[in-house]
Amino acid sequence: MIPSEIIKQKRNGNEISHAQIKDFINGYLKDEIPDYQMSALLMAIFFNGMTDSEISALVDVMLNSGEKMDFSHLSNYVADKHSTGGVGDKVSIILGPLMAAAGIAIPMLSGRSLGHTGGTLDKLETIPGFKVNINLDDFRKQVDTIGIAMIGQTENICPADRRMYALRDVTGTVESVPLICGSIMSKKIAEGIQGLVLDVKTGNGAFMKNINDAHYLGNMLKKIGKAFNINTDVVYTSMDQPLGNSAGLWCEIQESIDGLKGTGPDDTMQVTFELGAKLLVQAGLSKNKPDAITLQTELISTGKAYDKFIEMVEYQGGKSRDIENYSQLHSPKYQTIVKSESSGYIQSIDTYQLGLATVELGCGRKKTTDKVDPTAGINFYKKIGERVNQGDTILKLFNSDSNKLSAAKNLITGNLVIGNKKVENKLILD
Ligand code: URA
Repeated sequence: MIPSEIIKQKRNGNEISHAQIKDFINGYLKDEIPDYQMSALLMAIFFNGMTDSEISALVDVMLNSGEKMDFSHLSNYVADKHSTGGVGDKVSIILGPLMAAAGIAIPMLSGRSLGHTGGTLDKLETIPGFKVNINLDDFRKQVDTIGIAMIGQTENICPADRRMYALRDVTGTVESVPLICGSIMSKKIAEGIQGLVLDVKTGNGAFMKNINDAHYLGNMLKKIGKAFNINTDVVYTSMDQPLGNSAGLWCEIQESIDGLKGTGPDDTMQVTFELGAKLLVQAGLSKNKPDAITLQTELISTGKAYDKFIEMVEYQGGKSRDIENYSQLHSPKYQTIVKSESSGYIQSIDTYQLGLATVELGCGRKKTTDKVDPTAGINFYKKIGERVNQGDTILKLFNSDSNKLSAAKNLITGNLVIGNKKVENKLILD
């Protein structure tokens, strides 16, 4: 195999074969193909897309780059949730323990921040001691014992996604349907799950900017799920504004804890319950959506979902004390507020730019070796359709690096449109 010939073939818009995809990815994992050639292939895929058969070959090769889990010995329904990525999207951290408390086994493989969007692993790692890279035997044991584990791709499970994901993050090759399908579905199939719910984010802060592109991605993900005998539901939700009242690292763990304790933001809980309902109905634990919502509300109000989260945190090396006293950890050294320059109703929010501001603050990476800042994030005080008066605080940015704070603030100037009309933002689209 000559790597540059495969790159050229894709660059010229021609199909590449299963064998070529396999040789290229396996060569990359053996360090026979360097990052610069993989980056070039990713960019060629980004521009030219892939046929359905190329996409299924990509999923197959990425999946088989590591081990596949098997939970068929469990009597529980085994399932998971994944989002295509957004700003302030902390739903996995609430939904995982909530579903485990309902009796669904959740072997969750998540990702780090990607492009302008936040990553579950980076958020979980802000819990002191919490390990996201446990070995597969411990992962299996944990799911068998407490019904949930949340880890990242390792050298043993989805190594291809582990490396390609990190490279896509810093090479402008994230917003590609084939690459998103390969990344998400290789992880989900490797988990050995029976059921899956996918949150396909749509809007100016998502990778899919409009509902047609979102449907194309959602249908493709569903088709792959079906081919691997996974019951797959897709929910389309708006990412035309951040989800919840914060985006960042520790601040999103704090908000997830609030969600698990019954005081989470309405929008975040609405998306959580919508996705949870799909899994509970799939599992046969609820007859329909209203029953599933009642069950989820009970699991939160009785403290069972929160207890499951604590159990997971302790199992993976964290301390319940840190969760209980969350306001005492990771205090940012610096903060700055953004005030409204006029009065009226918020019409629109440039969510993509807010996501970039979180990266600038230290919640994401500009190059693969960058370290994230657990204290960093943004609080949102106003959402689309809300009334603001001139001088009202609309955002607060915080972190522990004053240069990055100023750079982030520069990025969000003029980020919000305020007008006279009260507009509505539909959260659950489809
Ligand atoms: N989530 C993933 O795991 N991969 C992507 O490419 C996008 C979202």
